[in-house]
Amino acid sequence: MQLVAAMSRLGTETAFDVLARATRLAQAGRPIVNLGIGQPDFPTPPNVVEAAVRALRDGHHGYTPANGILPLREAVARDVLRRRGVEVHPDRIVIVPGGKVTMFFAILMFGEPGAEIMYPDPGFPIYRSMIEFTGATPVPIALHENKGFAFSADEVLGRIGPRTRLVILNSPANPTGGVVPKQELDRLVAGLRDYPEVAVLSDEIYARMCYDGVPHATMLAYPELADRLILLDGWSKTYAMTGWRIGYGIWPERLAPLATRLAINCHSCVHAATQWAAIEALEGPQDAVDRMVAEFDRRRRFIVDQLNALEGFRCVMPGGAFYAFPNIAATGFRAQELQDSLLEEAGVAVIAGTSFGIYGEGYLRFSYAASIEAIAEAIERIRRFLAAHPRRRP
Ligand code: PLP
Repeated sequence: MQLVAAMSRLGTETAFDVLARATRLAQAGRPIVNLGIGQPDFPTPPNVVEAAVRALRDGHHGYTPANGILPLREAVARDVLRRRGVEVHPDRIVIVPGGKVTMFFAILMFGEPGAEIMYPDPGFPIYRSMIEFTGATPVPIALHENKGFAFSADEVLGRIGPRTRLVILNSPANPTGGVVPKQELDRLVAGLRDYPEVAVLSDEIYARMCYDGVPHATMLAYPELADRLILLDGWSKTYAMTGWRIGYGIWPERLAPLATRLAINCHSCVHAATQWAAIEALEGPQDAVDRMVAEFDRRRRFIVDQLNALEGFRCVMPGGAFYAFPNIAATGFRAQELQDSLLEEAGVAVIAGTSFGIYGEGYLRFSYAASIEAIAEAIERIRRFLAAHPRRRP
């Protein structure tokens, strides 16, 4: 068999590997505390489940339009107006099976040998994987702990060159929980005026998980970007619907038909009943989301406190999402080594920062989509592990 060379460049999400190893250990009888997983530990709200069951009973069994059923695209447009204060025509909205698909399509549209695509590092690993798959050159935007893992607009603008096609942004961010302040976005957008040919993909899948009363700053708020901004959002995190596989992209008018064409070539359309459930999620009561976010906020403060009390750990307070990203350099362990030892010896699943890019060395990602009791148990196990392996950096 002769496979295309691009297949050898395709990366992966190590979170799934750690999950598989944690599951194997748990099946072998080891009690594992899993803080590796990037999904809410809450069920999908029952009204949403009911809407899907109803849709199945009502006979929604066939193909739907490739870009999604109109009532759902209209519901997304209303939601975007409500939450982001921006009017978007439903024809610019393309419903896809998960948030990931919008990034997949966007990177496919802009990436090819000779092109450069900028992406956050540490960042969601699929950005780099897909950029390399297309043959484009990945250009990391380094995120720094001392800036709360927000990018610096000047640094981003300074790295744009004649071959830059696409800049990927993610706020609130995976894996750091970092939130980019609105002023930094303003500066970036002002600077992008000098680069009218550069498109932007704004991954806002954690938009509803912003804390401390800071409102989510969306890239959609800049009308001057309307013809070159792709916005990624979805239901996975907000409505605890990771397994349903549904998300959406808001595309520039010119690109929406091309995203739809990719959908026709790839998955035809999203599961029909899931689309009806997604309408209920957006338009039904939101108290389940509010409760979940309030609980994440409580755990966020708890875990950051606890992490900061661990010898050799230092953790900034994340402004969003459900991840803490402590600096572990002073423990004397490298990220991968500590990830593996904690899993094998302490039975705690967390993810090495290096799974999210080279700038993730010296960090671990903790998901706090787990109960306070589980978090406390994990911290206690880590404390014992560190005490048994004293190897502090001088
Ligand atoms: N974007 C970011 C930053 C994520 O963390 C994730 C999931 O972990 C996704 C996109 C993909 O979401 P989905 O499960 O809807 O494909």
